[in-house]
Amino acid sequence: MSYSHKPSDIIRPEILALKAYHVPPATGMVKLDAMENPYALPQALQNEISSLAAGAPINRYPDPNAADLKAALREALTIPDQMDVMLGNGSDEIIQIIAMAAARPGAIVLSVEPAFVMFRMIATFANMQYTGVPLTADFALDLDATLDAIARHQPAVIFLAYPNNPTGNLFDEQAILKIIEATPGIVVIDEAYHAFAGASVMDKLTDYPNLLLMRTLSKLGLAGLRLGLLIGRPAWLTEFEKLRLPYNVSVLTQCVTQSVLCHMDVLLDQAEQIKTERARMFARLTTLKTLEVFPSDANFILFRVDNATGIFRKLKQRGILIKNLDRTHALLDNCLRVTIGTAEENTQFVTALETLLSE
Ligand SMILES: *Cc1c(COP(=O)(O)O)cnc(C)c1O
Repeated sequence: MSYSHKPSDIIRPEILALKAYHVPPATGMVKLDAMENPYALPQALQNEISSLAAGAPINRYPDPNAADLKAALREALTIPDQMDVMLGNGSDEIIQIIAMAAARPGAIVLSVEPAFVMFRMIATFANMQYTGVPLTADFALDLDATLDAIARHQPAVIFLAYPNNPTGNLFDEQAILKIIEATPGIVVIDEAYHAFAGASVMDKLTDYPNLLLMRTLSKLGLAGLRLGLLIGRPAWLTEFEKLRLPYNVSVLTQCVTQSVLCHMDVLLDQAEQIKTERARMFARLTTLKTLEVFPSDANFILFRVDNATGIFRKLKQRGILIKNLDRTHALLDNCLRVTIGTAEENTQFVTALETLLSE
């Protein structure tokens, strides 16, 4: 017997049709494309991390329950006692665990469009169907259309980022609560940008049996450590825990995060600085007459500009990397997204943009 051993004989067609998530090279660039915190940690904390890393038992598997880290997170994020916490290798992994758990034949993931692209991608990874309900032109929830889609599709899982990525806005809380009440499945509110928004559904967890809350430390300044959390009722988290690989949070991530959490004020101060810079950038960008700038509750700003793809390329030639969203969705025509960097990086970006617009 002879076999051709072609991937197309083995790999699922929807995987063959996917394009891998593209991360552009950024060496030497002013990197304003990935919502990273631009600031380093203070020297004293860096030294503390060095000695922790040196002494970390990396010959051993990590604590699979990460009990100490979870206790520190409970305190730092004021998580209600009745709720359980599950840790992920970034919140991306948590999205994947939820999708795998809910992937009954024909089960549907619902989100809005435009939204965080991993919602759609991971639905496909897990063999789920995906449906996206368009936001309104100003990126608000279209409540009627969303309730309609819920009634028609009976989604197993709804993902909503709050604030939303890539648009940066918070959705109306009352509309979110109506969605939670109307859906037969679970609603995962993804608060990746919580530190820059100051709004949360944390205090709603006890009211809604189908509500789950996701957070991450990535946008707050620990993107390289990969730590996300899911917060919710034990009944749900007990099931999701079964799919979590036992050692998904490394020894180094556990010990370094725990020590940084003892200095949560450092990260929160940096978030405040980012918010100050966001206000300065927003004001400056809105003075550019040919730009349409969208208000943001996150650590990035979305704006529309003529010939966005051309502007994106020219910025890149000048060593400034932002995110081009042109043609990724009808509502994002000619849209670019810039992450708030340091004051110096932001000034470099706006100055370059002003120059390009006056050419
Ligand atoms: C960046 C981002 C994430 C991913 O966070 P990680 O914890 O780094 O995996 C999740 N959700 C949204 C909406 C994001 O923008």
